[in-house]
Amino acid sequence: MSKTLPVQKNDYIDVVFEDLTHDGAGVAKVDGYPLFVPNGLPGEKAKIKVIKVNKGYGFGKLIETYEESPYRVKATCPIYKECGGCQLQHLSYEGQLKAKEKQVKDVLERIGKLENVKVHPVLGMKEPWRYRNKAQVPVGEQEGGLIGGFYQQRSHQIINMKECIIQQEKNDEVVQAVIEICSRYGVRAYDEGRHKGDLRHVMTRYGLVTGEVMVVLISRTNDLPHKKKLIEEIISRVPGIKSIVQNVNPKKTNVIFGDETKVLWGEEVIYDFIGDIKFAISARSFYQVNPEQTKVLYEKALEYADLSGEEKVIDAYCGIGTISLFLAKKAKKVFGVEIVPEAIEDAKRNAELNGITNAVFAAGEAEAVIPKWYEKGNSADVLVVDPPRKGCDEALLKTIIEMKPKRVVYVSCNPGTLARDLRILEDGGYKTVEVQPVDMFPQTTHVESVALLTRKIQN
Ligand code: SAH
Repeated sequence: MSKTLPVQKNDYIDVVFEDLTHDGAGVAKVDGYPLFVPNGLPGEKAKIKVIKVNKGYGFGKLIETYEESPYRVKATCPIYKECGGCQLQHLSYEGQLKAKEKQVKDVLERIGKLENVKVHPVLGMKEPWRYRNKAQVPVGEQEGGLIGGFYQQRSHQIINMKECIIQQEKNDEVVQAVIEICSRYGVRAYDEGRHKGDLRHVMTRYGLVTGEVMVVLISRTNDLPHKKKLIEEIISRVPGIKSIVQNVNPKKTNVIFGDETKVLWGEEVIYDFIGDIKFAISARSFYQVNPEQTKVLYEKALEYADLSGEEKVIDAYCGIGTISLFLAKKAKKVFGVEIVPEAIEDAKRNAELNGITNAVFAAGEAEAVIPKWYEKGNSADVLVVDPPRKGCDEALLKTIIEMKPKRVVYVSCNPGTLARDLRILEDGGYKTVEVQPVDMFPQTTHVESVALLTRKIQN
């Protein structure tokens, strides 16, 4: 017999929100049954309408708020609701940081079964706006001209957007200039339905420290009308322009980039600094989007690594070698591993660029390469991991447990998989000493954390 649920579809009920989901909806519970309600904030009393019930959870709609959270604010951005790129603008920044700290704590307890782990208050930004160094803007048409904007939530409709307040102002200016120039020269926007037209996306990247700008035009075919003129005008309109790149994506897909990338003008890369390390960034490289907080994150990782200059360090999931190069300055030797071969090429180039000779890089799966190193008798004193959202592969965790590095520094963009992996490492003889969340993406629900683990018994 199926158990009857405590609520039915279309019920109107009064609730108190207890929590936020990882996508920013309020969570209310009726006899333990969770209901997810967009726009509800923890502590708020409200009337909701139940709009969908599943076996283990349901969804509701906020009808009326009786008591507002002291952290509720009016969203700063006029297109906050339509866009969906940010999820927490209706929560004050102080409230956001508290919510993220609680999220990390709760998940470590619930999923990782880690009691009393020290989770520090989230390291936030002084000015939690205008932080992104990269814009990727879909192009549409309106009244015969081009517009750059965003896809309306759950649709393919492009809405015009002149500015995005979590974006560096420079990127907004560059995108607007490029779109205006392309529009004037009769470039047509890509039409998804008919798979016709020219320009699909405009991407810009801005080196915060160097002031260098890259523009990437992502087009359906190799041809762009008046290409030479477009380039000339972009050069004359955009101060700091160092690189204009075209990426061709002929496919019927919502993946932004195609396989072919070519430089139309200037350099193949722009440069930027994190701290005193210089990075070359190409159109397709992964590079953290919040440079100010990246420095905070890496400094914390470095502090946890606690290097004296004698250590061998492995940096797994190393990307273009960003963390590896920070580590290399303080370690005897660093081994970086990353699955994308182009990123490894970038990592090698970045090491050279900074005169760093004690960092070596290998392309491959961390869970394949590191066990092989270990089998050959190579170990590490300190191991750093910075995996994607799905966390570390079990084979890698197993090798870490066998290898017994003195310290493991775990950089994570997903508290759920962090908690799961910390549990495995704890069971394998490690102790989670402390966790420091860092706010890399203010106004959104994302939270990054760095955890320090040491061996329970030093052997
Ligand atoms: N540490 C870097 C990159 C972190 S992002 C930085 O801070 O910039 C995570 C990286 O893991 C990505 O570069 C991704 O390509 C890589 N990756 C994903 N799966 C992997 C695997 N199985 N083995 C090694 N690297 C992997």
